[in-house]
Amino acid sequence: MSKNVLVFGGSGSLGSAIVNLFKTKGWNTISVDFRDNTNATQSVSITSSNESEVKRVLSVLGSTKVDSIICAAGGWVGGSIVADDYFQSVQKMLDFNLSSAVATAFLAGKLLNTGGVVVLTGAKSATVPTAGMIGYGISKAATHHLIKSLAETPELSGSSSLGILPVTLDTPSNRQYMPGPYDDWTPLEEVADKLFQWSNDSATRPTNGSLVVVETKKNVTTYSTI
Ligand code: NAD
Repeated sequence: MSKNVLVFGGSGSLGSAIVNLFKTKGWNTISVDFRDNTNATQSVSITSSNESEVKRVLSVLGSTKVDSIICAAGGWVGGSIVADDYFQSVQKMLDFNLSSAVATAFLAGKLLNTGGVVVLTGAKSATVPTAGMIGYGISKAATHHLIKSLAETPELSGSSSLGILPVTLDTPSNRQYMPGPYDDWTPLEEVADKLFQWSNDSATRPTNGSLVVVETKKNVTTYSTI
């Protein structure tokens, strides 16, 4: 029987790459995002990641269980404590990055089969102070904390809770707004492939609760646990 993966943020750059890769491996793919992903086996469109919408996702999925659940949702805005839009930018980052991680954790508690894996996406930049991007930094640092807490959650024992902390992903959006060098950016397919290994073979997974920095230098990607 095919295995199931749920990708929260499954219509974004990384999320779509994950959906596509798992699909080629014969997995059923469930995308949950503000926008539909028509490549996924099942696509659930939500208007926010608040409690009522996430509980609606559960009712749409019915008795479906998943073997892997990955949060690839998020976004980025900068802004320090003196920025004119300080409050808006912080709220936006909490809504995009933290709320999606919180929702994915909730769904993991309800849907993840024993032996499965839940992966949340943090950011290496949030492992140190982020004075110029307060909202982004606190939302990702809180996500790192959530990953560690999932690893200590009795209801998830027997499964793995992991974090990926990318530096720069090679996305269309980054190519539009940032200069290279592109050989220091991580190809989305590589990350998707690593997530597939962890999902498909528990022996390949880092220790439960690991935060794994994903960094590419001169086209070589490394995965280092911190
Ligand atoms: P993206 O902007 O291409 O896609 C993000 C997706 O998340 C979008 O489809 C969006 O609709 C969805 N989304 C946002 N908030 C949501 C919410 N609350 N509920 C449901 N869906 C929501 O992003 P990406 O570049 O693919 O990045 C993927 C992840 O990697 C994000 O968590 C991002 O913060 C993180 N990250 C990215 C980079 C990078 O260089 N792009 C670097 C470090 C970390």
